[in-house]
Amino acid sequence: MIIVLKPNISKKEEAAVLKEIKRLGYQPHVMRGVARTVIGAIGDESTHQSLEALTAWPQVESVTPIQKRYKLVSREAHPTNSTVKAGGTVIGGKKFVVMAGPCSVESEEQIITTAHAVKKAGATVLRGGAFKPRTSPYEFQGLGEKGLKLLAKARKETGLPIITELLSENHADLVAEYADILQIGTRNAQNFQLLIAAARTGKPVLLKRGLAMKIEEWLLAGEYVLANDNANLMFCERGIRTFETYTRNTLDLGAIPSIKRESHCPIIIDPSQGVGRADLVVAMCKGAAAMGADGLLIEVHPNPAKAWSDAAQQVTLEGFAKLMEELKPFIAAAGREL
Ligand code: PEP
Ligand code: MN
Repeated sequence: MIIVLKPNISKKEEAAVLKEIKRLGYQPHVMRGVARTVIGAIGDESTHQSLEALTAWPQVESVTPIQKRYKLVSREAHPTNSTVKAGGTVIGGKKFVVMAGPCSVESEEQIITTAHAVKKAGATVLRGGAFKPRTSPYEFQGLGEKGLKLLAKARKETGLPIITELLSENHADLVAEYADILQIGTRNAQNFQLLIAAARTGKPVLLKRGLAMKIEEWLLAGEYVLANDNANLMFCERGIRTFETYTRNTLDLGAIPSIKRESHCPIIIDPSQGVGRADLVVAMCKGAAAMGADGLLIEVHPNPAKAWSDAAQQVTLEGFAKLMEELKPFIAAAGREL
């Protein structure tokens, strides 16, 4: 910790701070400037009471940690990119991974038709919500276990691994029985007990960014997964809440280089929740691919106008095939392949 004292404090006030630092089990190193004194306190924060309490002392201006608060997700802990395996798909390697499918699983015909179409166009993971986090309790809540069974059937027919949302700790075993990747949604991004339950299933976890989550908070939420013995974590940017209402959310593509810089875990972009409008999805996909994202999570529906959730943002099967073609030069420009 770096403790900066206020200017022109007395020797006695300085001595009191040094005494407290030692009492808490840290070694103080004093640097005296012309007007101010800075103290470096050496010691392991995880085994001692935090020095942050010094912020409340009148003679202290600031207390700043030297070490990052996240460890296992950090690039320092693992300098090379880590990869996550789901079925035959590897995320975070040379291949750019496209996960595609409907917002919600609605019927056997809908999910099977979509699965075949997205596979043909080049997707290597099938998405589909069985438990849906809806803003209103009066909206379609998902087919639940029936939806999971339909996803499993689509996997059996196409060989595509499946990603689906885990909404509650109570469902962890059930959802893990069917899913190849557990999606933790925006609304649950800081539900730490849910993150622990997801980690303990041993399945790969895709952690969406919370609506109002800072990058550091997102990394710390991811840390819960790695700290619970599950190294198979992916981050997923899906737009944050800002003043802008033209798009559903503001898709923060700056999260790509930020996560790449801070962490070794793959970063996926979800342009569908990100912009909330099907006509803008392709442009965001191109941007994400060019900027070095490891993959995309895209909502695709055979008949978006009749979708039971998120109708405005789902692309058609034909639209998805065209998008995949248009995406190719951007994937290649980033040194990746489909
Ligand atoms: C979804 O993927 O359909 C979804 C509900 O995502 P988010 O948690 O990002 O809103
Ligand atoms: Mn959706």
